[in-house]
Amino acid sequence: MRPDPESPAALGAAAAQAAFKSMIPHDFISTLLGRVDIVEVIDRYVPLKKAGANYQACCPFHSEKTPSFTVSPTKQFYHCFGCGAHGTAVGFLMEHAGKAFPEAVEELAREVGLEVPRVESAGEKERRDDTAEVTRVLLAAAKFYRAKLKDSPRAIEYLKRRGLTGEMAARFGIGYATDAWQALEAVFPDYGDAALVEAGLVINGDGGKRYDRFRDRVMFPIHDSRGRVIGFGGRTLGGGDPKYLNSPETAVFSKGRELYGLFLARDAIRDAGMVVVVEGYMDVVALAQHGIEYSVATLGTSTTPAHATATPPAARQRGARSKTRFPCWPTARTRGFSFCRTATTRTISYASAVESSSRARSLPRSRSPNT
Ligand SMILES: [Zn+2]
Repeated sequence: MRPDPESPAALGAAAAQAAFKSMIPHDFISTLLGRVDIVEVIDRYVPLKKAGANYQACCPFHSEKTPSFTVSPTKQFYHCFGCGAHGTAVGFLMEHAGKAFPEAVEELAREVGLEVPRVESAGEKERRDDTAEVTRVLLAAAKFYRAKLKDSPRAIEYLKRRGLTGEMAARFGIGYATDAWQALEAVFPDYGDAALVEAGLVINGDGGKRYDRFRDRVMFPIHDSRGRVIGFGGRTLGGGDPKYLNSPETAVFSKGRELYGLFLARDAIRDAGMVVVVEGYMDVVALAQHGIEYSVATLGTSTTPAHATATPPAARQRGARSKTRFPCWPTARTRGFSFCRTATTRTISYASAVESSSRARSLPRSRSPNT
């Protein structure tokens, strides 16, 4: 009798348990086992000899002198009459080769040209729904801030003073958060919605009073690699502290991982084969204004290994042949060149972790794009 290929006996108990826990659909395992030739798989580890309709060998799971380990090409099972070891090709890779269940499945699927589908766990689905809600809220806020820019002569004046054209402001989606405490109520009638706090747009103050995090600030939306708005950087206009305020860490935003401007710069980075890492949003925008479109900014003062891996592989690969540069400009006079050197050195060492021959270059202060 041919046992059900998904039964615990067929997979081996450990494999069955792993299959249950993993998010690989069970019917895929059946399809996979229908395509794989177990004789070929086992023969790579334990040379098999034909014996009638089956194949046999000395058992790899117990010590013996005469073969009691058999592999059936028609049933696609192995079985040992000596120790009772029994299972499918997936089970064999786990029990004999020590592979984890998903790993064994991946390996076999690759061999027969199948792609492993995955189903989401309830927890994963919940997380995805949460982040979808947060990004929906952030996008609505970005549109609102952008619309408000037109109504603020002060914000427009600030951008003009920095040499920015309206076209550049539109390209980067730059906006303005007004000085009101609950301006976002105009976009979100349910101002008490928890998603506003989760998105980092609204702060729960003392006494349950809620208010907008960003007020009287020029707003720079921060995008992820897919172009979704995941946070904001706000530059104060009224001289309030801090001068630059970022979104807090949220389900979709992590300062240490994101690079401002990367989504827009991606193609240019690939074309140029290099990336320029600068310190602030305005540097990125100002450089783009001057035709240097392959620059990005860190969202704090230091770079992290995640930043180096976040840049497009094209830039990193070509960099390996000598072109990638990670220059850095001192953007604040008080920080001066030493800061620049430090940041650049860090960038080099992190980039080195990704590829060995990245080179960083500090540009002279006179060439700073935005002092
Ligand atoms: Zn055995």
